[in-house]
Amino acid sequence: MIINSVSQLIGHTPLIDLQIDVPNHSHIYAKLEMFNPGGSIKDRLGQYMIQDAINQGNVTEGLTTIIEPTASNTGIGVALAAQQHHLPTILVIPEKFSFEKQQLMKALGAKLINTPSNQGIRGAIKKAYELQKQTPNSFVPMQFENPANPDTYYHTLAPELIEAIDGPIDAFVAGAGSGGTFAGIARYLKEQNDNTQTIVVEPEGSILNGGPAHSHQTEGIGVEFIPPFFEKVQIDQTLTIPDSDAFNQVKEIAQHQGLFIGSSSGAALAASLKVASQLPKDSTIVTVFPDSSERYMSENIYD
Ligand code: PMP
Repeated sequence: MIINSVSQLIGHTPLIDLQIDVPNHSHIYAKLEMFNPGGSIKDRLGQYMIQDAINQGNVTEGLTTIIEPTASNTGIGVALAAQQHHLPTILVIPEKFSFEKQQLMKALGAKLINTPSNQGIRGAIKKAYELQKQTPNSFVPMQFENPANPDTYYHTLAPELIEAIDGPIDAFVAGAGSGGTFAGIARYLKEQNDNTQTIVVEPEGSILNGGPAHSHQTEGIGVEFIPPFFEKVQIDQTLTIPDSDAFNQVKEIAQHQGLFIGSSSGAALAASLKVASQLPKDSTIVTVFPDSSERYMSENIYD
């Protein structure tokens, strides 16, 4: 296959039928989103959200400065899309997030502004709006509120799942950061089959199950406020996965399946195994592996 732009490599990622010991002889299928060109599920979001902003007249090619607060994979996806449309980009990131991801954003030409880790994503959101006021011709896509976020996954990843899986999907399991991935896919799958169970995954320190907010090692998922996208989607269960369970799965799957997955994927896998133990024999469980462990090596992910 000859391509003429990396944007043509976004989406249509492989779906793996994991050959692991799953309770009740069920199958766990995982969408391998690290095979997007920017290395994560958020390339889809960058491409869709920037194109949507251009279509709506909010962004002019070669002119508008894009400013986005991000936990960082979205930053890479936005920077990649912005580069394709010749848009200068400023990304606002709490400083705790992975060194590798911040390097990749710089490589794509984005300017990075760090906010204090203890202010969380809210600190980054506030700073992004301040920068917007100071920057003429600027636009903040705002993944945390933009309906284009769940729509990205509703229109791309979810139909890819239906196309790939023969027969009914009994459960869909995914982590939530902005909540866009979960909300978009869960909405689509419920429309296709009301019996599909939708299970959202968070680390300890995220508030969905009512626990207090605190820091955690699992990167990319966990919320400090309920994602607005969750108002429009049915959530059948919320599973809170301790960091240690997520990181154990990261190591297991590298050793036994040759897959390099990030910690949010590890949490999704730990949750999928729990769901398998709740469901009848021979169930089909679908989950998403958002990125690879290669962007967390500086955090000694395999130690
Ligand atoms: N995992 C990783 C590694 C991520 O970067 C993100 C995005 N923050 C997610 C999961 C969660 O995706 P979403 O924002 O769509 O909930």
